[in-house]
Amino acid sequence: MKRILILGAGTAGTMMANHLIKKIDKKEWEITIIDKHEKHYYQPGFLFIPFDIYSEKDVVKPKINFLPKEVEYIQTSIDLIDPDAKRVVLADSTSISYDILIVATGCDIAPDETEGLSDGWRKDIFDFYTFEGSVALRDKLRTWQGGKLVVHITEMPIKCPVAPLEFIFLADWFFKEKKNIRDQVELTFVTPLNSAFTKQKCADVLSHLFPEKNIEIVPNFNVSHVEADQRKLVSLDGKEVNYDLLVTIPTNMGDELIERSGLGDELNFIPTNKHTLQSKAHEDIFVIGDASDIPASKAGSVAHFSGEILTENIISFMNNKPLTAHFDGHANCYIESGYNKALLIDFNYDQEPVKGTFPLPGIGPFSLLKETKINHLGKMAFKHIYWYMLLKGIPIPTVPPHMKTSGKNLS
Ligand SMILES: Cc1cc2nc3c(=O)[nH]c(=O)nc-3n(C[C@H](O)[C@H](O)[C@H](O)COP(=O)(O)OP(=O)(O)OC[C@H]3O[C@@H](n4cnc5c(N)ncnc54)[C@H](O)[C@@H]3O)c2cc1C
Repeated sequence: MKRILILGAGTAGTMMANHLIKKIDKKEWEITIIDKHEKHYYQPGFLFIPFDIYSEKDVVKPKINFLPKEVEYIQTSIDLIDPDAKRVVLADSTSISYDILIVATGCDIAPDETEGLSDGWRKDIFDFYTFEGSVALRDKLRTWQGGKLVVHITEMPIKCPVAPLEFIFLADWFFKEKKNIRDQVELTFVTPLNSAFTKQKCADVLSHLFPEKNIEIVPNFNVSHVEADQRKLVSLDGKEVNYDLLVTIPTNMGDELIERSGLGDELNFIPTNKHTLQSKAHEDIFVIGDASDIPASKAGSVAHFSGEILTENIISFMNNKPLTAHFDGHANCYIESGYNKALLIDFNYDQEPVKGTFPLPGIGPFSLLKETKINHLGKMAFKHIYWYMLLKGIPIPTVPPHMKTSGKNLS
């Protein structure tokens, strides 16, 4: 038997296992998937935990529930990829060989990359990019009496680049509506970008929300270090921002396994062909999700759209055919803006977010680049779509992997 080996049973790896099991010739091929954790986390739900909107039951389920029965699941830490020997070494030093390798090991926060950040960690400095971080921040916010709350992005790229914006918009709503202390809270958004978001057209639309919600934005802030005892962020060019409570998005990095295997760039992301999703260095290695260096958003929606493309390419590769399926960088993200409203953006490598309707031209029901209550309902429904459709590799009707141009104002 030949083996497809999938590293990582998170969003992308689980989707790939479900897609491929339906397509392979099971007399010739078998699929094995490896992950170090027993639990699957719905990471978009981490945004809602600090505000007591979601709890653990919304975001945590056993990984095994979402993997096909015919797929072999090994729960252990992966130590090394040896591309020359076509094998992967596990934590107990045993190894497992592959004919095709799919790397889906994602990325994680690396607070130690910024001097001083760890000094105030989980005292006055919190994250919401991990389950533990979002729960610790929820506990902090339950008793916090107000002061200066700073939301801070260390450097790009980060997973879900809109999540920090959503956090600060929800914070405005939370302190006003739920805690009734908004007049005692100063909100500041500190970013290394020159505006609120990576995509300029979207940043322009979002920019009016900052003064409307009385949120200060500090752009072009490249952090040098944190003085935790003084509660101060210091930039490379000597600017300072004080805080009482810092909600930071630390540097995001691929797993150390990628560095140990000599497969990554300086942030441990794997150089990957942005259209075929094949590793640039090894033709029998494919990369999907946050682990790759493709210039698309690090988002579950990208893993979902590119998963359909990668499945086609893996089948072609098995049959010694050229990789003709091309990923266009399609991303689709709701931006929760508080008060039961959200915006929606849909874009790809070449096309910035524009106005229009989604997914049906002229009908919607969702509006692009516009704050609506229906978009908010879409964001909340996404949790169910994620657990019961996306992870299982079930396509969403009317939403193909490539970005549709119909219904969009592209002028
Ligand atoms: C706060 C937040 C909000 C978000 N909001 C959205 C959103 O609204 N919309 C959206 O589309 N996306 C959102 N995302 C992003 C989305 O969750 C990720 O892009 C997606 O989960 C990436 O999938 P992945 O499979 O690449 O990585 P992951 O799902 O993180 O899976 C990686 C897996 O690899 C395993 N692994 C790593 N290294 C090893 C090793 N050495 N040995 C064994 N196992 C290993 C890990 O245990 C993990 O299970 C959000 C993310 C965060 C943090």
